[in-house]
Amino acid sequence: MPKAITLGFSYSSGKSVRMQTLHRDSRGIFEKLIPLRSTSPVKAYYSKGLRARSVSLFCIAERSCFFLGSLFGTETTPVLLVLDINDWRRLLGPTMPYYVPSYSSWLKCIYTGDKIERSIVETFLKAFRNSPANLRHRLVSAVGTEKNAFEIGIQTLFDYLVVHEMTHCHAHTKKVNTGTFWLSEFLADYCTYAFVKDARDTQVEKIMDITYELIYKGGHSLVEHKSILDFEDMYSQVGFFNYEWYHAKFHRGARELYERFGTSFISAVIEEFEATDEKVVCRLDQKLKGFKKWFGAWK
Ligand SMILES: [Zn+2]
Repeated sequence: MPKAITLGFSYSSGKSVRMQTLHRDSRGIFEKLIPLRSTSPVKAYYSKGLRARSVSLFCIAERSCFFLGSLFGTETTPVLLVLDINDWRRLLGPTMPYYVPSYSSWLKCIYTGDKIERSIVETFLKAFRNSPANLRHRLVSAVGTEKNAFEIGIQTLFDYLVVHEMTHCHAHTKKVNTGTFWLSEFLADYCTYAFVKDARDTQVEKIMDITYELIYKGGHSLVEHKSILDFEDMYSQVGFFNYEWYHAKFHRGARELYERFGTSFISAVIEEFEATDEKVVCRLDQKLKGFKKWFGAWK
């Protein structure tokens, strides 16, 4: 019998969210998947036929793991799973839309897929059609082709969600607990932007900036929820398109703050919200004299 395990997107928010169910059978979750040989701390497995795709996502995963490791001061061994739709359904159950990357803190796994599903691209098309013409032209010029420019833009955003999920992995390893959904997600989007800036890949940066801007501007009159208050109250319950619209808002915010603070924003969040036993006890000791000594004897 498959064993169902509930996973949360937002392990670091401190809230319990029933987001997805991983169906694990007793023979192990990696069975049927092919390992990508490497000496990297990042391990990758892929479904039959997806080797080339797994190599390309593995490059992003490995580079971002080193980048984030130096920012967070963490050493971790995440697993990247590049799955076809059948393995996706087998491992994540029927409700998670295929190809929306996610992270399991329990398994330290980042789930990704092959090419983005047409139905997902179509979800964003309404924003694309509703966006200013000059932004659409800028996207075509950044991508270098008119054909499928928007699809390439969306594919780029979703490919780089590997960095977003990798940030959740490092934040979890470091025990960074922001206490809010919005800051946990904002931090992951901020780190993704910082990674792209650091890599100096100007084409990816342009495609990402313009595509998010298209979603933000084109989607502004189409979404019901726009405030951080609503995001905090409803999180992914705002619906798929509205949830992705919030990420376009976060990306905009990350660009603005990065201009002012660069990677010091990331260091400040880590310092403020790192919640290891030692840090927590030291913080309490500042308010409650002798607490640290008491904890040392009691723990
Ligand atoms: Zn996230």
